[in-house]
Amino acid sequence: MICDNCKVREAEVYQAHSGKRLCRKCFMKDIRERVKKESLKIGLDKASKILLAVSGGKDSYVLADTLSSFIDSNKLIAYNITEGIQGYNRYEQIVQLKRYLSSLGIELIEDSFKQGVGHTLDEMMKYSRNKGLNVSACTFCGGFRRKLINNAGRTVSADYVATGHNLDDEVQAIIVNLIRGDIIRLIRFADKPIKLSSKFVLRVKPLRRVYEWETTLYAYYGGYQFQEVECPYISTKPTLRSKVRELLYTLEDKKPGALLSILDEFDKIAEKVRKQSELKEELPTCKICGEPTSYGREICKNCELLISSGLLDP
Ligand code: SF4
Ligand code: ZN
Ligand code: ZN
Repeated sequence: MICDNCKVREAEVYQAHSGKRLCRKCFMKDIRERVKKESLKIGLDKASKILLAVSGGKDSYVLADTLSSFIDSNKLIAYNITEGIQGYNRYEQIVQLKRYLSSLGIELIEDSFKQGVGHTLDEMMKYSRNKGLNVSACTFCGGFRRKLINNAGRTVSADYVATGHNLDDEVQAIIVNLIRGDIIRLIRFADKPIKLSSKFVLRVKPLRRVYEWETTLYAYYGGYQFQEVECPYISTKPTLRSKVRELLYTLEDKKPGALLSILDEFDKIAEKVRKQSELKEELPTCKICGEPTSYGREICKNCELLISSGLLDP
């Protein structure tokens, strides 16, 4: 079968949401164009510095590859955090990514929880369990990761922090937060970011309109292959998120393009809520670490976790 786009090469990919059969080259071009369109909407082309938060996985590769196709690579700088989890060593992935980033002329800053927080994730979990706390590793990990990424963005004077979240990640998170009724968190998923504190570097997700299967295939076509290592802290119990993921896949299967439609509708609603959120006063700052915290809080969640684990004096 011939590619629906170039009408020359053999088609290799069926894109159910567009109904097109594409050759490898046209498929990769389509992904780059969609990432560019989303990035121009946000204004990434006008930024003087963008910090790419990379994990070493396939989405990190797709993020760097697509952005560097239309943004000067000296405006891009990558940042990676090692959590310090025994049995979850992504050393090979990071080495491969570092080599690739360097071929694009992008520097990689390597950080860790040990350096940035003072403790590895395993140490934080050990202390919190000894104190009888029932807090998941992902709560520690997500909170400190956000904080370190934001700090790194400020340190390099980035206008934006770009993450590699794809369409599947994005719609799952939107539905989970809708179910939980968490409007402030929900607004973070808007296409155009809202700055609730002058200490926050705006976070953007240039891959948010690209399906996960597309990022996997793009990375594979780009020659970026490795064994994904699974974090030992990943819950084996069904979570709200995993149930939402299954439901969304069933929906997408029955109605290709459903995830893109949900995101489009969400962006329209978010635009209206944004106007109200922008009127809100600046987020308060934590009296211990000085970083922004939620409305009504004196101490941020991260410092609170360290205090209750016995790793920080109140
Ligand atoms: Fe961190 Fe592992 Fe949880 Fe991912 S699964 S957020 S790496 S603890
Ligand atoms: Zn083609
Ligand atoms: Zn704090």
